Amino acid sequence: MESAESLRNKCRACYRQFNKMEHLVEHMRTSYHSGHEPMCGICKKHCRSHESLREHLIGPLPKVECERIFKERGCHICLDIFSSRNALKAHLNSCQLSRTNVNGLTYRMANLGIFDDMRNHENGGGRGGRVVALACKMVGGGSDGSLDLCARVCLIDEYENTIFHTYVRPHLPVTHYRFETTGIRPEMLKDAMGVRQVQKKIQDFLSNGEPLWKIRPKGGKARILVGHGLDHDLKCLEVDFPGMMIRDTAKYPPLMKTSKLSNSLKYLAKAYLGYDIQTGIQDPYEDCVATMRLYKRMKYQRHKIEDFPQVTDPHRNNFASWRQNELERMSPDDLLALSRSDYYCWCLDSRDI
Ligand SMILES: [Zn+2]
Ligand SMILES: [Zn+2]
Ligand SMILES: [Zn+2]
Ligand SMILES: [Zn+2]
Repeated sequence: MESAESLRNKCRACYRQFNKMEHLVEHMRTSYHSGHEPMCGICKKHCRSHESLREHLIGPLPKVECERIFKERGCHICLDIFSSRNALKAHLNSCQLSRTNVNGLTYRMANLGIFDDMRNHENGGGRGGRVVALACKMVGGGSDGSLDLCARVCLIDEYENTIFHTYVRPHLPVTHYRFETTGIRPEMLKDAMGVRQVQKKIQDFLSNGEPLWKIRPKGGKARILVGHGLDHDLKCLEVDFPGMMIRDTAKYPPLMKTSKLSNSLKYLAKAYLGYDIQTGIQDPYEDCVATMRLYKRMKYQRHKIEDFPQVTDPHRNNFASWRQNELERMSPDDLLALSRSDYYCWCLDSRDI
């Protein structure tokens, strides 16, 4: 039995119970609950990630009542609950994606040399907008072949159109072509574009005419860059781009396994889009499409609109501006209303960038 006292001190987001109100206040200060967290469609429990919501609904240790309803009319991909089995069926047609891209082409584009459509995407206006996805494939350098060297790069727009796709000639000798996964042979890189030239093209394209120091997320010309593990890709390409413009599926808390551990892109595509990628020889175009689709899924989630959605917002109305004894007199609902997210939820990207 839950005592009246512990019910009073129950977190309204994750449902943890505390013996004392001061412990709930302490929990609320450090948990950064918000309406941007993935939430169970049945009991409304907030979870830190879609991964923990999946555990709550599917297992290994699911909540029994939620699991029962979820099995009946829950979508195993986006984890939403529907009003009936038929509604779920209709939804699955659009939720489960296929490896084929939106233009009806299979991802595997004939062994292309250089494809460059950057000029048609200048100024970020019209189709394609300001959001682009980038992915690389690496070959090995160094004496044991473990040093990653970018040998192939792809850039796509929001509509899965290729903007730029090329083999890249690294500036260090390649000691391992990793053929089983890259499909790359020495002759493909021999006359390919050099990494310096690729670096400049991508840098210019992403900045879109704005100096690095001037780049800002809203109202500017620079592009929003989507990808998986972009730190590594950008480092290999020697491209500099500010973190506030980057949407990385390996670092976005709702898509991570734990707060420190990322999921692989292969796993994310299977679990959150419903299809397999990276089987056999890998194409960076396919990685671009998967990350862009994941980005859009996250961006179009319907979350409550708040004036100051992040804990770091300068005008925040949260715990810092209240005294401990004032907080201890508040109800758990009031405490949740004060709480703000500690990460930038992608739903905050405006719909028209
Ligand atoms: Zn909580
Ligand atoms: Zn959100
Ligand atoms: Zn639940
Ligand atoms: Zn779904």
